[in-house]
Amino acid sequence: MRRLEALRRMMADRQIEYFLVTGAANRRYLSGFTGSAGVLLVSPERCWLVTDFRYFEQARQQAPDWELYPQKGKLSEALGQLFREEGVTRLAFEKEHITYAQYEALAGLGLELVGQAGLVEKLRMIKDEGELEAIRRAAALADDAFAHILSVIRPGMREEEVALELEYHMRRAGAAGVAFETIVASGPRSALPHGRASSRRIEPGDFVTMDLGCVVDGYCSDLTRTVVVGRADEEQRKVYDLVARAQQAGLEALRAGRRGSEVDAQARRVIADAGHADHFGHGLGHGVGLEVHEAPRLSPQAAGPDEPLLEAGMVVTVEPGVYIPDWGGVRIEDLVVVREDGCEILSRADKRLIEL
Ligand code: ZN
Ligand code: ZN
Repeated sequence: MRRLEALRRMMADRQIEYFLVTGAANRRYLSGFTGSAGVLLVSPERCWLVTDFRYFEQARQQAPDWELYPQKGKLSEALGQLFREEGVTRLAFEKEHITYAQYEALAGLGLELVGQAGLVEKLRMIKDEGELEAIRRAAALADDAFAHILSVIRPGMREEEVALELEYHMRRAGAAGVAFETIVASGPRSALPHGRASSRRIEPGDFVTMDLGCVVDGYCSDLTRTVVVGRADEEQRKVYDLVARAQQAGLEALRAGRRGSEVDAQARRVIADAGHADHFGHGLGHGVGLEVHEAPRLSPQAAGPDEPLLEAGMVVTVEPGVYIPDWGGVRIEDLVVVREDGCEILSRADKRLIEL
């Protein structure tokens, strides 16, 4: 309910009396309800969870402080009835979490609609101890899976087999599922920042980039390591060392009070100074929580008057990469907690260049 009170303060600042929450992660964050369908309505005094018959019992158990408002027919009909009962004439809604069809249905109810973006997401940026604990456990399972895979990878294996083994290991150890489709990119494919595992067979001398994460109590982890199958050659060593130095620069720049774009710039400069600016085309990192990509972002694109300052308790990734077309690439990604005087690294997987 502390989260709900924080939301109500934001609503009051914006003169919002009624706020409709339609984003799934936001719904879960505020209410604890994990069902796949339902919306929240929040007023200064009351809060409702509107959902259908499949979830009545689950809603009562997971969200006992919320008034269950049963949806019997269409969602828009249930909402229309609730709005009439409450005398709602002006409604704020999450413009990033609504389809055009849902918007049309809301507009058909004759209310004044006020689009909002990022309200609950802003609250979600700073994690409490319970959330950090779940993320720590999810990070540990990814670390364990990575340690395990080092004794499994050998030339001739398909990337898909490596991904399956990573996922199986995390789930067997207690993960509820994967946080995203596991990336295994070998040889020239390691130049693809988001190369999902393919049927390519790993060859001696390949770089293998693995980007994996799992879910524990609804919270995600995110880890990337790049290894060499066999002995690394001179060029591979150079690029790996460069990415490792850029990652270290990012970690050292990270602390409360900085902006994500500034931290990004510190790591990016290391790569640019080595002549690889064009080979690092994505942001340095992103927030992680109920969703694997959430606010805040560590990216040049985040820069601007609205960019939030980093605060203690935020969980972000630090993941520079260098991707050279037709040759290969390296990415090193840690999950970290922002602290007042620096950062706490949650990822424990070995970061030295590993030759299998
Ligand atoms: Zn990742
Ligand atoms: Zn990531």
